[in-house]
Amino acid sequence: MPDTGPVDLRSDTLTRPTAPMRAAMAAADVGDDVYGEDPTVNALQDHVAEMFGHEAALFVPSGIMGNQIGVRLLVRPGQELLCDADAHVITYEQGAAAAHGGITTRTWSGEGGRLDPRDVERMLRPGGWHTVVTAAVAVEQTHNRGGGTVQSLAALRQVRESTARHGIAVHCDGARIWNASIATGVPFAEYGALFDTVSVCLSKGLGAPVGSLLISSAERIAEARTLRARLGGAMRQVGILAAAGRYALEHHVQRLADDHRRARRLAEILGVDPAGVETNLVMVDVPDARVFTEKAATEGVYVTPFGPTRARLVTHLGVDDADTERAGAILARLAGR
Ligand SMILES: *Cc1c(COP(=O)(O)O)cnc(C)c1O
Repeated sequence: MPDTGPVDLRSDTLTRPTAPMRAAMAAADVGDDVYGEDPTVNALQDHVAEMFGHEAALFVPSGIMGNQIGVRLLVRPGQELLCDADAHVITYEQGAAAAHGGITTRTWSGEGGRLDPRDVERMLRPGGWHTVVTAAVAVEQTHNRGGGTVQSLAALRQVRESTARHGIAVHCDGARIWNASIATGVPFAEYGALFDTVSVCLSKGLGAPVGSLLISSAERIAEARTLRARLGGAMRQVGILAAAGRYALEHHVQRLADDHRRARRLAEILGVDPAGVETNLVMVDVPDARVFTEKAATEGVYVTPFGPTRARLVTHLGVDDADTERAGAILARLAGR
């Protein structure tokens, strides 16, 4: 019998832990992580730091906390952070950099979220008594609002070089950096080498219920522990969650290629230019996004309106080939394709 349950394409955060992931959580060896005594957390932190070629990592409850601690390690109050105008760090984080860190921001506008190193270079103001000091640049890999755009290694390297000349740091919001690596074959450590701090999410396409990590030097991560505690983000027997993350890293990274294939298939069915679908996000232009979203929902396909005439579809662990075909057919009809 065909599966006719709803197909939820709103976000890759909607995944639920699988049975074997839950089993790994239940079996996790735990301790008090505020004391630094949770072996599962410690092992995950070491493992992820090593994956990205850094000395240390810190488990945090959310990607926002990872970003915000990362940025505060690099930018002092009154200094500035440069980022894309559509970056998560200034769009969805409730002004945290300003509210908690006294950080000002200046933005560039990348087409489709794509990083152009010349935009960044033009904006750098390394110091002096008269202008705000640019202390760090934040890049997003992949770019969420841009539609899962992958920043090229060449562009990232150029940003690294121009900022390094002025002693300016680089933070990577790598919530979906896993997708970038799977889409391009660039190893995690090669990305990691280009950034002073990296935040990564276990709770997006990897399918863990909770958790992110901030990756950096041992010295910075020691300071990050203090900032995490100050934000109330230090947790106790959190190995239960770290075990889900470890399971996800072992079993759900390679399969992101399936999400990318299904996203391209949705694009094909919907007549969306496949060149714009680099990972697991598909942006589809429709006459009225709100009407499109509501009608799709009544037919059991959930999507997110992204502006007045655009909807976002996200493939993930909970969407298989049959779901893709069925949702694609419904959405194509509603979009008049
Ligand atoms: C989801 C996301 C985050 C933050 O994630 P939360 O865990 O929801 O706080 C950060 N950056 C990007 C690009 C994201 O997509």
